[in-house]
Amino acid sequence: MTAPARVLVIGAGPAGLAAGVRLLERARGRVTVTLAHQGHHLGGKAASYTDAAGRRLEHGWHMMLGFYERLFGLMDRAGASRARAVMSMFGKSHAFEPAVGKVFTLDSTGGRVATAFNFARYEGIPLDDRAHYSRFMSQVYGRILGGEELTQHDDVCFTRWAIEQGLRPHLTRYSLFRLFRDGYFNFPEQVSAYHVLQTMKLMSTSEGAEAFAAVGPYSERVWAPIGRYFESLGGVVEPYVMVRALGYDGRRVTKLHVARPAGSGHDDGASSWKAARLPVEPGTERELGGFDAVIAAIPQAVFVTLNEGDPRMWRSPYVARMTNLRSVATMSMTVRTRDPVLPYVGPVHGLPAPLGIAVNMTRYLDRYRSGEERGHDVQLVGQEAGFESWSDDAVASFALDQLARVPGGDLRAATITYLELHRNRADFERIFVCEPGVQRFRPGPLTPFDNLFVAGDWVKNDVDLVCMEGAVCSGYDAADQLLARLPDLGGRSEARAP
Ligand SMILES: Cc1cc2nc3c(=O)[nH]c(=O)nc-3n(C[C@H](O)[C@H](O)[C@H](O)COP(=O)(O)OP(=O)(O)OC[C@H]3O[C@@H](n4cnc5c(N)ncnc54)[C@H](O)[C@@H]3O)c2cc1C
Repeated sequence: MTAPARVLVIGAGPAGLAAGVRLLERARGRVTVTLAHQGHHLGGKAASYTDAAGRRLEHGWHMMLGFYERLFGLMDRAGASRARAVMSMFGKSHAFEPAVGKVFTLDSTGGRVATAFNFARYEGIPLDDRAHYSRFMSQVYGRILGGEELTQHDDVCFTRWAIEQGLRPHLTRYSLFRLFRDGYFNFPEQVSAYHVLQTMKLMSTSEGAEAFAAVGPYSERVWAPIGRYFESLGGVVEPYVMVRALGYDGRRVTKLHVARPAGSGHDDGASSWKAARLPVEPGTERELGGFDAVIAAIPQAVFVTLNEGDPRMWRSPYVARMTNLRSVATMSMTVRTRDPVLPYVGPVHGLPAPLGIAVNMTRYLDRYRSGEERGHDVQLVGQEAGFESWSDDAVASFALDQLARVPGGDLRAATITYLELHRNRADFERIFVCEPGVQRFRPGPLTPFDNLFVAGDWVKNDVDLVCMEGAVCSGYDAADQLLARLPDLGGRSEARAP
């Protein structure tokens, strides 16, 4: 008789939660699963909650797309009410075209045919350019959906790729052109053509393209129910376990060096929400063993800090390749005003970096709808790259100036009652960059260690976009790979009763 394999999943973001649930849904009785993570709240970078002091803590505004079938399925099985967690933004994308100082709306309901047609109705660019753009995008959709291998377009950025494929170069200056790139990735830098084409593919049906605002607190509405579901399947959650290094013997990971992050209990494991490297609670460093296999579902920016200075591990081409992957600090800003602002349903794209997207969340937040809170709530999100030396005040003031150019976007004139800027600089908050050429460096779920698997939005998966759905998909993959190798992983003979 063989005892169940003891699996340790590290990281309770979307990937770790999905991996833990998948293991138990598919192999309950054949595995036991412990989910250890450094914080207290579930959801990783997609967590948001109110702390004991009443502060709202979140990494930034999140949206979910219609193609998130794995995440929605997981929420449904866990009993997380979609009606409470997401609200439709009614298929509208708005692009601010700075050259004319106007906001134009692109209707993305109806899928690729309608979207390509709607490009032709987009009034932000001259008629002749519109017709050209619409034809170009229809051809691109045709190629994507005709089964073209998209990874071959990873080495080049989308802008150059589009020009090489015949797009009139000046069209790349319009916000409309940058909609798929900025709307999804919001990077100030270029995104590989592969990633933009993959986004268009996943959003090519009207169902897949529907955008939903994630309604916070997400930890309570999305991730805690999934955590409870995991526990109902027999899983165990262990908070405040921060992994600092792997201990291994040959090709097996045998133990983890862990510690409790200092200040646990205040927020997600960090003594300060903005700590760059997490200090540890003195005297809590220890070795954690007693497992047969590990799924590491921690961010890439954290993974590459494990076993620093251990040439044996980092000489392995699999692990060494990861150091070529870059990550970036995301930024977000919440501004509340007394008077109404930004009269658009859904996000407005096309603002200059670092805070390139703005969305009026008032209609989505319960406390405004119930009348408990008065005023209006605008959230901005973006990336810090290139703006690291700017002070918080400089970033906030620049973002407010830029938004004021958008009709209805003058927040100062609407009387600001609250303003908060987050710079997600700690390793565990950084986000993976989908720059050109990145695909070849993304690892798959299998590692050189027989009993170590990796998961996360940065690990190659069928979705391959840096998002919650990609993370969930990757968590499922890692779990499936582990289960396929189960006979080699557990195998401890269960003591027989005399
Ligand atoms: C500002 C911002 C806006 C975003 N907007 C969207 C959006 O609109 N839509 C969308 O789909 N996605 C969005 N994302 C991306 C989404 O949040 C991520 O893709 C997703 O959270 C990745 O999940 P993950 O499980 O791979 O990693 P993470 O969410 O990073 O989870 C990692 C887990 O590992 C834990 N951990 C880290 N280090 C250690 C350690 N050393 N030891 C133990 N545990 C550790 C963390 O505490 C966490 O539990 C956004 C992200 C940010 C930051």
